[in-house]
Amino acid sequence: AAEDRIFNFGAGPAVLPEKVLRKAQSELLNWHGSGMSVMEMSHRGKDFISIIEKAEADLRTLLSIPQDYAVLFLQGGATTLFASASLNLCNPGDPVDYLVTGSWGDKASKEAKKYAKVNVIWSGKSENYVRIPDFDELEQNPDAKYLHICTNETIHGVEFKNYPTPKNKNGIIVADMSSNFCSKPVDVTKFGLIYAGAQKNVGPSGVAIVIVRKDLIGKAQEITPIMLDLKIQAENKSLYNTPPCFGIYICGLVFEDLLEQGGLMEIEKKNKKKGETLYDAIDNSNGFYRCPVEKSVRSLMNVPFTLERSELEAEFIKEAAKEKMVGLKGHRSVGGIRASIYNAMTLLGVENLVAFMEDFKARHG
Ligand code: PLP
Repeated sequence: AAEDRIFNFGAGPAVLPEKVLRKAQSELLNWHGSGMSVMEMSHRGKDFISIIEKAEADLRTLLSIPQDYAVLFLQGGATTLFASASLNLCNPGDPVDYLVTGSWGDKASKEAKKYAKVNVIWSGKSENYVRIPDFDELEQNPDAKYLHICTNETIHGVEFKNYPTPKNKNGIIVADMSSNFCSKPVDVTKFGLIYAGAQKNVGPSGVAIVIVRKDLIGKAQEITPIMLDLKIQAENKSLYNTPPCFGIYICGLVFEDLLEQGGLMEIEKKNKKKGETLYDAIDNSNGFYRCPVEKSVRSLMNVPFTLERSELEAEFIKEAAKEKMVGLKGHRSVGGIRASIYNAMTLLGVENLVAFMEDFKARHG
């Protein structure tokens, strides 16, 4: 029953809107009179074509994606796109710039090294990824094929609030937006390639979304596997092979829900309110809770924090679970606590967490 649902603060796969899950449930056995589930229908039939076309159209509306950009629904997660970016946009050995503000950007840069000459223009690793540098201080390679950023570092909780101006001759930024995709409006035209795994804000795992300027594709390296060739995928409208049909359908339901909520400006307002509520609780705890991230770049999606008495963290996680709040353990590489508060996490969920944090502090402070 719905009452049995818990507050899921996990980083991904993450909570989805209850409304979406209910709708999927009501259509599970018989989608729109087709007599079958979306899982069972041909990806080339008119029913599924209408599903993928509507999903794309709604995403285009949400993000105001211009027609000179292709929208793709692919497989392989954001991790596969780490390779696709350089395979599609560079000749072997071409220089590319990476601005590394967390471990996902770091991973992306390492994968790209196989197909391009990666120059890390800045890395926050030595200071444990707590900030984003002043863009003007950064030296970029004018010959780089693109500048890569990860707009929200899921593990470290560092989020870009504005974007660097690419100084490469082609003016291309490539962005991994996996963990803040559709959490706020974004000017797509600032980017050459945007990619995101769906499983945080917009759907189940198994779907990776790409938004790419059409003139940039069609020059993939010879060794590029056909599935990673964005031009082939674009020409075939993501249907070169069997796509992740059910996942795309769920993404479509999420996009519909985001539009019904008033679009991404409204979503951003809600996310700001949730973020403020949680960060205020941390900052007003007299040091009992601490967030290491510089205030100006704190993520509205993933909120990492530690307890002053770190020996209490395991107890915190255990007690929270008893209060139906799960997924709060920090990533295994950094420890501490992490509350992921994606679009589908309600303000009520965040308020519950804050009330628990205050109570926990009163008992242990
Ligand atoms: N990039 C970011 C920012 C992520 O948070 C993740 C996953 O958590 C990934 C990339 C990898 O995504 P996937 O598991 O879809 O390959």
